[in-house]
Amino acid sequence: MASQRSVNVGGVQVGGGAPVVVQTMTKTETANLTATMDQIRKVAEAGADLVRVAVPRDRDVEALKTIVAESPIPVIADIHFNHTLALKALDAGAHCVRLNPGNIGGPDKVAEVAERATQLGTPLRIGVNSGSLPRHLHDLERDNPVEALVTAAVEFVGLMERLDFRDFKVSIKSTSVPYTIAANRLLSERIPYPLHLGITEAGTKWSGSLKSAVGLGTLLADGIGDTIRISLSTFHAEEEVKVAWEILKALKLRERGPVLIACPTCGRLQFDMDTVVADIERRLEAYSDPIEVAVLGCAVNGIGEASHADFGIAGAKDMGVIYSKGEPLRKVRTEQLVDALFEEIDRYYEAGKVVQRDAAAAAEGAALLAEIEAENAHDMTPERLAAMEKAKQAEQSEAMDAALRLDEADSPVDGRRFTRA
Ligand code: SF4
Repeated sequence: MASQRSVNVGGVQVGGGAPVVVQTMTKTETANLTATMDQIRKVAEAGADLVRVAVPRDRDVEALKTIVAESPIPVIADIHFNHTLALKALDAGAHCVRLNPGNIGGPDKVAEVAERATQLGTPLRIGVNSGSLPRHLHDLERDNPVEALVTAAVEFVGLMERLDFRDFKVSIKSTSVPYTIAANRLLSERIPYPLHLGITEAGTKWSGSLKSAVGLGTLLADGIGDTIRISLSTFHAEEEVKVAWEILKALKLRERGPVLIACPTCGRLQFDMDTVVADIERRLEAYSDPIEVAVLGCAVNGIGEASHADFGIAGAKDMGVIYSKGEPLRKVRTEQLVDALFEEIDRYYEAGKVVQRDAAAAAEGAALLAEIEAENAHDMTPERLAAMEKAKQAEQSEAMDAALRLDEADSPVDGRRFTRA
């Protein structure tokens, strides 16, 4: 269930139906201003809406003042164990402060932070981690870890409400994907506050991205979650941002930049598609429009299922085809396919988003496609097998429906028997 309440983090609305907000955390020593600002600029360029910085020492608070002033996106201060640092971070102008009420020194200390946040109009994020639940929940944690996580979060929410502070978002984090999913589902039913989603210590770029896509994707698909952070073991925080965007784009929750689709390749591939796809992906980063670009390893099936793409290439051994919206634009030597693809994309933008077609070149492309298709008309490609399977399934389900209709017609309904003419 989407959160009912929202918070405003330096002008970025989180919750209450706003688009899901992408955030990340810098990996630099916060007090190292040059390195931290360099990373903040990189993550902002990659599409982060918010950035969090660790504030474990007084010198980090000092740096925070400059970071807040110079950052292109709102800054969240991440505090553990030390409520004095939380107060100082609020005074330094942080747009939000993240703290764990369970490790900040007791309700009195939480009250002091909440009071200062109220005075400054700054929201907080209160976080619960599976590794640091309050002692009185340890037995419950052994029996029912999900309920223990949710109970801890609900207790912290109760504490904030008793302090008459409601300007906060909540996070429940665990290294376990199933626990994260179950706990956030439960929590979303019990509290109206915005939820921050993440999988703690998700792992490397490869495994962490997959775990995050499964865990966060499942929740987001249910409409749960207002801001996400992908935690990856990489020094390059912008990688976390890119993964977050791929998840949001895959679920069609937000749009940012082009969408690249590519066939899985098979034994018909006749060029170095790995390098071509990587090259296209890198070059597409320069574009902000959500155009769809397709890469097909061969033209045996024509343009096939990728015909809806705004632009695409169908490769071959010597010559391939550039196409747009299912129509060939021209044939090109295979080694020039990538450059030619971007020439067409750039011509499209220069003409005010109008595809530039040359009838003679398009006819040559169409002829090449027809030739390749005819030469391979009997090949059982993955696409043709899938199409045959689909047709077979449709045929079987039609036969099943017809049999059911016959059964119904023969069955007594309301004491009467229907007879067919
Ligand atoms: S047959 Fe399909 S999967 Fe194989 S290379 Fe061609 S487009 Fe790719």
